[in-house]
Amino acid sequence: MTTWVDGAEGSLFDVDNLPYGVFSLAGEEPRVGVRIGELVLDLAPVAAAEMLDAHHVFQERSLNALMAEGRLVRESVRRWITGLLTDETERDLVEPHLVPVADVTLHLPVEVADYVDFYASLDHASNVGRIFRPDQEPLLPNWRHLPVGYHGRAGTVVASGTPVTRPSGQHRGDDGPTYGPSTRLDIEAELGFVVGTPSELGSPVAYGAFADHVFGVVGLNDWSARDIQAWEYVPLGPFLGKSFATSISAWVTPLEALDAAWVDLPGQDPTPLPYLGPGDVQGLDIDVEVLLNGTVVSRPPYRTMYWSPAQMLAHITVNGASLRTGDLYASGTISGPERDQRGSFLELSWGGTEPFGAELWGDGRTFLEDGDEVVLRYTAPGTAGGRIALGEVSGVVEPARV
Ligand code: CA
Repeated sequence: MTTWVDGAEGSLFDVDNLPYGVFSLAGEEPRVGVRIGELVLDLAPVAAAEMLDAHHVFQERSLNALMAEGRLVRESVRRWITGLLTDETERDLVEPHLVPVADVTLHLPVEVADYVDFYASLDHASNVGRIFRPDQEPLLPNWRHLPVGYHGRAGTVVASGTPVTRPSGQHRGDDGPTYGPSTRLDIEAELGFVVGTPSELGSPVAYGAFADHVFGVVGLNDWSARDIQAWEYVPLGPFLGKSFATSISAWVTPLEALDAAWVDLPGQDPTPLPYLGPGDVQGLDIDVEVLLNGTVVSRPPYRTMYWSPAQMLAHITVNGASLRTGDLYASGTISGPERDQRGSFLELSWGGTEPFGAELWGDGRTFLEDGDEVVLRYTAPGTAGGRIALGEVSGVVEPARV
């Protein structure tokens, strides 16, 4: 299956990718588009011209209406778009509605309902345990039995490109707590999963129903203030050290684009409880790159995670909590076993004690400085044999407003 769109074939945004986003042109309302190569297809006018049943969902300012249509519509819309972009006879209809990515403004693609952040990387959890609690076992007793997580702040999830203001708050001090801008501002390179199909209050969502409920995947940066976090997090977990901003990619990669990316995860010991779907646990073979001011400083591999996306979804709902369209849950920091695979600066600099990147920045770096730009990039095997890109996540740190 090849596309007639110039420049798209063989690119990271070939016709086997087709991520969705919300875009606008100057003076026009935001609406839903799909990316092909370096272009965005404006879906609403094409869907209206073809009298597609679901054409109204493309006129919305978020993907929620499209996502709420469910798995069958998600799959059939993808087939329809694939046909538009591969069938030469559609070219006259479609080509006038292709706009260069460079000419559009991209918006937060999802109206985020609830946001949950997990802690699903064994290497990350072990590293953080060693850094924060050096005299104890790195993993707490529950860690291998359930995907540990917390509810985050949906209202401060922002689109890639949104500047991040350095947060202020309480930090531990020798003579009691002090207040001021965080001096240990950090990133967490993660993947986010976006829910399309809701579930009924009181009824758990089975492990095997993952693809019926999850619409797609976003890149995600869980900005973290380590000094605020370290003082506040016991006993109830992350709070203001995390809630000031969470960035997601402007593009949502539909699950079908990742069909070739599923791999066996490293393995789970002990075997988790039955609701967590023991055996043949599958994750995604997604390569992540962390760039600081344009230079790659880490390459975390998502295939090394301990808990799978389906297990995290089953766990969110095992108590009967319902899903809503627009729910977002994130993997937790992706860190591999090697030093250059760590997905946070906390780990790359080992709690700030071992600056990294001395070959690039003289004394090396620990935590983020004002003006720093962080970009997270993600690629995965595509269904056509090459690779596809997921949406990247960028953000520049702005000074605290005190
Ligand atoms: Ca996190």
